[in-house]
Amino acid sequence: MKKLLAPLLSAAMLLCLTACGAPKKAETSLFAMDTYMTLVAYGDGADDALTDAARTINELEQLLSRTREDSDVWRINHGGGQVNPTTVQLVEQAIRFSDETDGAFDITIAPLVDLWAINSDAPHIPSQAEIDSLLPLVGSDRITPNGKTVTLDSGCAIDLGGIAKGYTSDRVKEIFARHGIKSGTVSLGGNVYVCGTRPDGKPWNVAVQDPRGGGYACTLTLTDTFAVTSGGYQRYFTAEDGTIYQHIIDPATGYPAQSDLLSVTVVCPDGTRADAYSTALYVMGEEAAIRFWESQGSDPFEMVLITADGRIVCTPGLTDHFIRQEDASYEVQFLSR
Ligand code: AMP
Ligand code: MG
Repeated sequence: MKKLLAPLLSAAMLLCLTACGAPKKAETSLFAMDTYMTLVAYGDGADDALTDAARTINELEQLLSRTREDSDVWRINHGGGQVNPTTVQLVEQAIRFSDETDGAFDITIAPLVDLWAINSDAPHIPSQAEIDSLLPLVGSDRITPNGKTVTLDSGCAIDLGGIAKGYTSDRVKEIFARHGIKSGTVSLGGNVYVCGTRPDGKPWNVAVQDPRGGGYACTLTLTDTFAVTSGGYQRYFTAEDGTIYQHIIDPATGYPAQSDLLSVTVVCPDGTRADAYSTALYVMGEEAAIRFWESQGSDPFEMVLITADGRIVCTPGLTDHFIRQEDASYEVQFLSR
C-alpha cells in the first residue's frame, strides 16, 4: 500500500506545485476597429487588466472610428468642433509621422480611401480624372490641430486606420503596467504587443505571416516590445481582369501603392510609431525603406521586409531573434549597420 501511495502523492504534489506556482492566466477576444483582437495576461491583476483594456479599446474605437457618426473623427470630417484631447494628440502624432516619412504616411488619404473603397463590399476602380480631382486634398498641412479642436481645409478628411490600432496597443501596455502585469500578449489584427517575457521567463514567439500563403514566413523571439505588420495581402480585391488592388494608398499617386514589398513588419518599443512606419515603409518600397531605416538616429527601430521577389530582408538587431521557417522558401538577408 505504501508503495502505491508514494507515486500518487508525488503526482498530487506536482499538480499542486503547477497550480500554485503558475501565475493566473486570463484571456479575452473581441471584435473592434474592424478586426479580431486577442488579449492574454498573466498575474493576479490579469482579469481586471483585461476588463480595463477591453473598455479602453471600445472607448478608443468610439473616438477614432470613421464610420460611427458620433465619433471624433466623424466630427472632424464633418465640419469640426470640440473633440477629446486624445484625438487631437493622435492627429498631431500622425502629422509628425507624415513629415518624417516625407508624406508616405498621411491620414488625409481618406478621400482616396473612400474613392477606391477597397475595404468595402463595393470596391471601385476610379478614372484618372477622379483621382486627380481628389489628390489636391491630400497633405498633412491641410490639418490644423488646435488644443481641443482639429480643423481641416475644405473638402479634406482624415482616416486613422493606419495608426489607431498601434496607438490602442500603447494604451493597453499602460493598462497592463498599471495592473502589475509582467507577462502577456496583445494582438490587434496585425498589431502585436508582447508584455515582458513568457511566464517561464523565455521570450515570446511572434510569427510573421507568409504573405504568399496561409503559413508563416518566419518567427521572431521578442520581449516587451511591439511588432506591427502592414501588407497588401491583408485587404485587397481582385478586379475582373485579375488585377489586384490592395488597401494601402500611395499619397503621391492616389493609387494603391505599387510596392515591391509584400509585407513590412516594424519592431520597436512604441506601438503608434511601429504602426505608422509599417504603413509608410510599405508605400516606400524596399530601397527607400532601407534608406529610411539607415537614417534613423538615436531612436532606431528594427524591421522585416518581405519582398515580392522572395527575400526576407531583416535589420541586424533581429539577428539573434530570428527563426527561419524552413518550408517558407524565402532567401534571408540581414542588413548591416
Ligand atoms: P495599416 O494596416 O496599418 O498599414 O493601415 C492601412 C489602412 O490605413 C488602410 O486600410 C487605410 O484605412 C489607411 N491608409 C491607406 N493608405 C495610407 C497611407 N498612405 N497613410 C496612412 N494611412 C493609410
Ligand atoms: Mg499602420
